Parts: sequence; structure tokens; C-alpha cells
Amino acid sequence: MLLLTESAQSTPFPLMPQQATLGILGGGQLGRFFLMAAKDLGYRTVVWAPDFESPAFGLADEVIQAPFDNAKAFQRFTSLADGVSYEFENLPVSTLEAMEALGKVVSPSSNILKICQHRILERQCLQGFGIPISPFKPIHTVAELQAGFEALGSQPCILKTATMGYDGKGQGKITTLADCAPVFASLGGEAHAPYLLERVVAFVREVSLIVGRSASGGMVTYPLIENRHHRHVLDLSLCPAPQLNPHTVVQSTHIAETLAEGLGLVGVLCIECFELADGSLIVNELAPRPHNSGHLTMEACITSQYEQQVRALCGFTLGCTGLRVPMVGLQNLMGQLWASSGKEPDWARVLDQFPEVKLHLYGKESAKPGRKMGHLVLTGNDYTAIEATLKAAKACIGPLKDFD
Ligand code: AMP
Repeated sequence: MLLLTESAQSTPFPLMPQQATLGILGGGQLGRFFLMAAKDLGYRTVVWAPDFESPAFGLADEVIQAPFDNAKAFQRFTSLADGVSYEFENLPVSTLEAMEALGKVVSPSSNILKICQHRILERQCLQGFGIPISPFKPIHTVAELQAGFEALGSQPCILKTATMGYDGKGQGKITTLADCAPVFASLGGEAHAPYLLERVVAFVREVSLIVGRSASGGMVTYPLIENRHHRHVLDLSLCPAPQLNPHTVVQSTHIAETLAEGLGLVGVLCIECFELADGSLIVNELAPRPHNSGHLTMEACITSQYEQQVRALCGFTLGCTGLRVPMVGLQNLMGQLWASSGKEPDWARVLDQFPEVKLHLYGKESAKPGRKMGHLVLTGNDYTAIEATLKAAKACIGPLKDFD
């Protein structure tokens, strides 16, 4: 852990002058909203993403479309960007390290990305900070898996690939010893090792905890967000998470501050947690960036998670995270809405029938089932009404044909 803190502290975080250019790696919706926040603060921007159809491209001053290991793209990006941020985790850490070696400000640091990219490193780091997690074992072989399953009490477990997993991909459930060999093989066997084996947590709900930390060490946390998933993809979020136990809030602040400080974070970090029946939290996953659930901070909070990321990257003091409204809900719009009719949904109808609902579309050209295409946000003072209105607005867009 020492290494982390030393490295993060040695990174210079000068105040970015107005002529500076902020660069972002990755061109999805999180990158797109980051660019909007950067523009609001007057900065020029550059996006580097491999995908030709990246929704962030249309908003940037400069665009680089190339794989992340492309040397020419690296040269061009670093010649333009004064400060660098990223919007997803599956990036080569070596690219960020090379930028830091050139003296570029990278937020969050390459060390934090390295930890968050690897579930075993992430768990060991959380354990080192004394943060509650589900009991786990690193796994390389079927024999280790069988022994690990027994060592974890022969209770239901989940086997996860250590890298490249997201939205429930690269995971298999193990209920009995007999499941070990087939689940191990289904994830790719020894060729895809190492894996993380961990006990299934009997949670009552999933919540996200978004924390920001500035270069001078100032920390802010957002109100906890309740997240509901459909087939492992975020479907609905409510903030502040309804019926929060005051102890949960105290624990969440402790977790956020311990992690942000311990990691030497400069930037925004999302901590995905399981809430247990007694209100206590167990950390599942870290994302060193703004989070999809935190889109709702744009409408509901004094400072959005995106502005916060820009402020941290630019060396500024972080903004107030307080809610401007009593409650807020977010409904994701997935590619199924397009797939069900084979054509673009009828946006005019939802705007006409639900004028109080805010519609965001990410400008993605191809709609695939499970792909996040946009979202709806509604603020108010009654969770039941917010949820019902969001569901009605989504239903009015089109019938949902689910995917297999
Ligand atoms: P992850 O990719 O780790 O975020 O996992 C995707 C989803 O799988 C989570 O949002 C949970 O719903 C579920 N999940 C992951 N790990 C566990 C666990 N240890 N116990 C229960 N559910 C889990």
C-alpha cells in the first residue's frame, strides 16, 4: 500500500489554466458527460477511443480513433492533453504509466487503475484497509477451486475471472463440489486463470457509494444510491437509497474516506456495495471513475460527479455534493427498446406525455440488447411515485422485448 500513496503523492497536480486541454481515454457515455462538464468549466478536450462509433467523439475538440496500444495515437494524445482521465477500466495500465512518466497529470492514478482492474488485487487491498468483504480465495486450478470451496465452508460461492469481467460477465455460481470442474471449464479453465472465488453474500440490496478526493486531500461523498439490476445490468437507481439506517451512512462515510485516503485517490471513485439485513455494508467492487448510477447527480446534486472529476483533475477544491431535491430516480434505457420494434423508439411520445421526466440519449448508432443507450431521470418527494412514473415513461417508449 505504501507504494500507492508514494506514487500518488509524487504526481504533480498543478491548477489547470483555462487554455489547458483535458484528455479522456474511452468514448462512452461517461466520457461524453465528462466532456460536457469540462466544457462548462471552459476547457478544451481530446478523446482517445478505439471504437469508430464512440458517443463522446461528437463533443470533443480533438478526436483520436485508434487502439490504446497505438504509438502514434499515444504521441498525439500526449502532445494535446495536459490532464488525463479515463471512463472505463479495461485500459492498458502501461499507457497511463507512460503518461505519468511524461509528467502528465493522470486522475485517478495508474496505480489505482491497476488495483481496480484485478479482482484479487482489489480484494487484497480492501482487506489490507480493513474494509468488510466476502471471504475469498485466489484460484488457479480445479484442485485449488475444490479446496477453496471447502475452505469457504462448502457454502454457495461465485467464481469470477480476475480481469475483464463486468456486468456479471465472466462469472459462475458454485453450489456443490460437483459444480467446480464444469464452472471452471466454462470460464476458460487454466488458460483464463487466475480467478477469484468468494462466498455468495445474502444481501438485501445493492448500493453505490461515490467518493471524490482532491489533490490537496479534501474529500466529498455523495448520498448513497440504491441500484436494481436486470440481468446484471443497471436498471433503476434511487437516491438517497430509501429507508437508510443511520449506521449505514456512518459506515459508508468511513469506507469511502478510508479507501480514498489509503489509495491516495485524486478524482472520483465508485464503491459498489452489498447492504445486509442489519444495514451493514460489504464492498463488492471498485470503479475508479464516475459511475452509471451517478448520472442522477447531474439533475439532483449541487456538483455532479462529472464536474467533480474535472475539478479533481484540474487541481481545484471539490464542490458540494448535497441534493437539491428530496429524492431522485434514474431509469436506464437499454438496447432492447430498439430491438423490440426494429426502429428508433418514439421519443416525442415520452417527452409529450412526461414533461417532468428528463431524457438523456447517448447518441449510439447501433442498439444491441443489454447496451446502455440512454436514461431517464425524475426528481420528486415520493419514491413510489418516482419509480411508477419512470416505469410508465419507459413503457410508453416501447414494449420491452427481453433478450435471452
Ligand atoms: P460484479 O461483476 O462483481 O459486479 O457482479 C455482478 C453482480 O453479481 C452483482 O451486481 C451482484 O448482483 C452479483 N454478485 C457478485 N458477487 C456476488 C456475491 N459475492 N454474492 C452475491 N451476489 C454477487
